[in-house]
Amino acid sequence: MTVGASSPESVGASGPEIEVRGLRKSFGAHEVLKGIDLEIGRGEVVCVIGPSGSGKSTLLRCVNLLEEPTKGQVFVGGAELTDPDVDIDAVRRRIGMVFQQFNLFPHLTVTENLTLPQRRVLKRDKAKAAKVAAENLERVGLAEKADAYPASLSGGQQQRVAIARSLSMGPEVMLFDEPTSALDPELVGDVLAVMRMLAREGMTMMVVTHEMTFAREVADRVVFMDDGVIVEDGTPARVIGSPSHERTRHFLSRLL
Ligand code: ADP
Ligand code: MG
Repeated sequence: MTVGASSPESVGASGPEIEVRGLRKSFGAHEVLKGIDLEIGRGEVVCVIGPSGSGKSTLLRCVNLLEEPTKGQVFVGGAELTDPDVDIDAVRRRIGMVFQQFNLFPHLTVTENLTLPQRRVLKRDKAKAAKVAAENLERVGLAEKADAYPASLSGGQQQRVAIARSLSMGPEVMLFDEPTSALDPELVGDVLAVMRMLAREGMTMMVVTHEMTFAREVADRVVFMDDGVIVEDGTPARVIGSPSHERTRHFLSRLL
């Protein structure tokens, strides 16, 4: 289905918010994703865990087409991203992404970092963009940093600004790729608290993380990936608490 052709309300009114079917991705001769099938319902929080190099980032990047799948289909909100005729920019606007590195513009203030993409991509006027920026800085607890420059903020504050920047675009889905992995341990909690808030508010979230406490407490489902395949997919109690595969047990034992 092509986004824009029908009213937004009619797109994906039912069915999963994110759907991945038979996804394969190769870099040259190296097959990194070897047939991934995954459905994430609206408002669901799914944590993706697994060893380094297992394909977690590549999977996330295929879900917003930062990487082009070699084979298979990806749907977000009922729209097929892998359809050659899709308006990819329109679909991407529904998907927020937060990376390990915050990628803020160092020469812009916090507010300017939040208003620039709204004005460029969504064509919002200055007043509207500033209002949305202020609301989202408030949500992540950083209203008082509106005029600060990124370099004056801690890593945790910069990551919360990056989340607020994503939220300012009004996404239906948020993808997080190890959002706390670059942070000093004492700064991790504030970022996870913002993610918990989003989960509580009903945001559909796909979170690659090594934070098992977060996965246990916040995720509806945990997906364990190894070597380009999904090995286990179930509740946190099942996948983390009593994994059925030796590979999962081995991975979890090394985290402790
Ligand atoms: P993870 O996030 O689980 O650590 P990645 O998805 O980053 O795993 O990487 C999976 C595999 O794909 C790794 O072997 C990595 O070297 C390879 N890979 C990732 N991106 C590229 C790329 N752009 N070009 C070539 N190989 C890549
Ligand atoms: Mg990764």
